[in-house]
Amino acid sequence: MAHYSIAIVGAGPAGYFTAQALQNAQSEDRTFAIDLFERLPTMWGLVRSGVAPDHPKIKTVAKVFEKVAAEPNFRLFGNIEIGKDIDIEDLTSRYDAVVMCTGSAIGRKLGIPGEDLIGSISAAEFVPWYNGHPDYADLEIDLSGDTAVVIGAGNVAMDCARILAINPSELDTTDTAEHALAHLHASNIRKVYIAGRRGVEHAAFTAPELRDLPKLEHTDVHIDSQQVSEAHARAEAAGEIEKHLASNLEAWRLIAEHPKSGHDRSMEFRFLSAPKEIKGDENGKVREVIFGINRVEGSKVVDTGETYSIPCSLVISAIGYQAAPINGVYFHNGIIENENGRVLGTNIYTVGWAKRGPSGVIGTNKSDASDVVDLILEDLKEPKETMDISMLIPSGHQIIDQAAWAKINNAEIAAGEPLGKPRIKEASWPKLLSLGLN
Ligand code: NAP
Repeated sequence: MAHYSIAIVGAGPAGYFTAQALQNAQSEDRTFAIDLFERLPTMWGLVRSGVAPDHPKIKTVAKVFEKVAAEPNFRLFGNIEIGKDIDIEDLTSRYDAVVMCTGSAIGRKLGIPGEDLIGSISAAEFVPWYNGHPDYADLEIDLSGDTAVVIGAGNVAMDCARILAINPSELDTTDTAEHALAHLHASNIRKVYIAGRRGVEHAAFTAPELRDLPKLEHTDVHIDSQQVSEAHARAEAAGEIEKHLASNLEAWRLIAEHPKSGHDRSMEFRFLSAPKEIKGDENGKVREVIFGINRVEGSKVVDTGETYSIPCSLVISAIGYQAAPINGVYFHNGIIENENGRVLGTNIYTVGWAKRGPSGVIGTNKSDASDVVDLILEDLKEPKETMDISMLIPSGHQIIDQAAWAKINNAEIAAGEPLGKPRIKEASWPKLLSLGLN
């Protein structure tokens, strides 16, 4: 019987699915002791701090994570930052394999003038702000103007735009962070533009998200029906329209044809609009976004040389993410340098967005984790001698173990109950740590 110790870094979907795949790979002659390390005092990664609060069904996967955590071969080390509290070398020398599941926390930059003006932020800040991530609770977001522009044509852009454009009362019974909910209730934003640089047919939105738009009760959603029919014609001219695109184009047609109710809140999609510059006022605050108008020519999207402007006071860029650096780990092009999840020449592996970049839905990490665990099984040799990692954690440093996380989780759920909310998230780091003690 071989008994292996595996460290997983990052308690998001990739981390829990890796632990689950390891648990499933145990046999009569092979067992695993799994230690999961997480920088935050809260768990579940993007299921907690990414998934939009008005999409609660997606969050039910957390039940799977807690089932994995309840297994006897699983230990949690929350509030421990690898690369700071413990060096990566301390993990690689003690564990048979170290699996980095640290995601992509940094928003990609547009690289255009004016990007750093006051009122220009990244979805990588806005999303964790409304989701109660303790690092973003104090972010100041100016919602005093009436118009916001969200740049990007992916599901994250859609989430940001929807949160700004819906009536905040629709979020009252969700787990939106309390500070964000109060701010959204006081918001003057009524018009939200979403700008995609290519055509309708190239957008990365998925059909379920598009099909939800006509169902919004207090928000009119606009898309120029001509842009939709032109996209359809281009897609047809390019050959047979594949299923996924056909479904999206049908969803766009329904959005375009859906009767508008004259709500004062609206979302408007603008395609073939490439951001060129964000202009500010004399106080350095966002005043307008200048877009270059693109045109589709065959399989290419080209700049027509023409521009237009959208006056606004808030710009959110939602154009993808890259991994945050970790001491002792080599990153390249925004991900951990790896080959199919193996960090060559080491006993380090990677799963999820840190491995493949910010793509796919939560479930994508399940198959990703299982593929990488197969590689780990191929590579494992004699188990290392067990050396408990707890000795390396400085005395007095509070570890959020599974029991402490359960206290935080239960306290949040109990706080939400009287208000009909799934939970009230605690967004202060010291308060989270003290909840873990009680
Ligand atoms: P994404 O799906 O890759 O979309 C990124 C968007 O940014 C694309 O439209 C891209 O346009 C655009 N973009 C990139 N660089 C740009 C630039 N310089 N100027 C203008 N636009 C630019 O990424 P995401 O929205 O961050 O989502 C990440 C992943 O999470 C996706 O797989 C998504 O489906 C998933 N997710 C799922 C849900 C859900 O299931 N409800 C919710 C949120 C996120 P081009 O195509 O032209 O490059």
